[in-house]
Amino acid sequence: MTAFWAEPDFDAHELVQLVHDRASGLTAIIAVHSTHLGPSAGGTRFWHYNDPAGAMRDALRLSRGMSYKNAMAGLPMGGGKAVILADEQRIKTPEMLAAFGDAVEGLGGRYVTAEDVGISEADMVAVSQRTAHVSGLPVAGEGSAGGDPGPFTAYGIYLGIKAAVRHKLGKDSIAGVHVAVQGTGSVGGGVARLLARDGAKLTLADINADRAAALAAELGGVTAASDAIMATPCDVFSPNALGAILDDAGIATLDCPIVAGGANNQLARPEHGVLLAARGILYAPDYVINAGGIISVATEYLARRDSRTGNVAEVNALVEQIPGRLEAIWQESESTGVSSDVVADRMAQKLIGRG
Ligand code: NAD
Repeated sequence: MTAFWAEPDFDAHELVQLVHDRASGLTAIIAVHSTHLGPSAGGTRFWHYNDPAGAMRDALRLSRGMSYKNAMAGLPMGGGKAVILADEQRIKTPEMLAAFGDAVEGLGGRYVTAEDVGISEADMVAVSQRTAHVSGLPVAGEGSAGGDPGPFTAYGIYLGIKAAVRHKLGKDSIAGVHVAVQGTGSVGGGVARLLARDGAKLTLADINADRAAALAAELGGVTAASDAIMATPCDVFSPNALGAILDDAGIATLDCPIVAGGANNQLARPEHGVLLAARGILYAPDYVINAGGIISVATEYLARRDSRTGNVAEVNALVEQIPGRLEAIWQESESTGVSSDVVADRMAQKLIGRG
């Protein structure tokens, strides 16, 4: 047998649990990458995979990603992830969710779950009937931590863009700075609104052209076609839609000194961070700048665990540390010549005791 432990994606996971519950038909993988900083936290994905190895790969990669993200967000939480293997019809039953809750409970708090692709808030409420180790539940009331993470993610990205403009362009104000925003959904729309308030010049694009046009009309910006936004000459390109957009072709079309946005996994491959740096483009590592949402979700969980109500001010105070982290990454990147994405990974590894 080839050593599973030697597979690159395994990356010294503390624990990988294969779950099967015969009565409900639940098949799941729970991956705990690191609990060095606290209980491992990361969402549960409900997805149909053609091959179980793909599910394992996803669980392991996403779980390691959560270790890095939570560490760089300054949270007292490690990284983990769960994948529920759906059948082709994607049938999800209350019994399966209950069995999944039991599996999470069985880990005794080493893994804290939340929503991810294919899992709704209602599903998480169902899981929470069987285990307390759930985050991202409905908020307790006005001003409480938790709820839709989008606005907190957007706030962190807005602060990150301001930090990038200060660092790269030497400007303390965002007024008149031209930002091209790809994706005007929960995150991109929120970023655009915050930037507009400060007088930024906006070009907006969305595959839902009506959505981009409505927001541009509201905020006084212009729109671009969704296949033209990356090539828009601007000060900041802010990707807030898809991942893997920073590939050879995408990077070649960029006409801007800064890339800073919230989409997950923006670099198609690790070498694309180097390519951005070689073009002199300042890159804000995605999982550092988009951590506002996880900060909100984790704060809600930690407050509930400690029998208190977390509040928005607490979340915002943590989100406001994002610019300082980005600045530290960029400074280190410039003094060492190592691209910002790799610097971020190394900082995260150090924080989880694996430097
Ligand atoms: P959303 O679904 O609310 O918005 C995404 C928008 O992008 C939609 O309006 C969609 O029409 C548009 N879009 C899709 N493909 C596009 C394309 N090719 N060109 C232009 N627009 C396109 O999603 P969201 O919550 O705003 O998330 C956006 C990104 O941010 C995702 O990559 C997500 O993983 C990431 N993210 C979100 C959060 C959060 O708190 N919501 C946190 C961290 C990361």
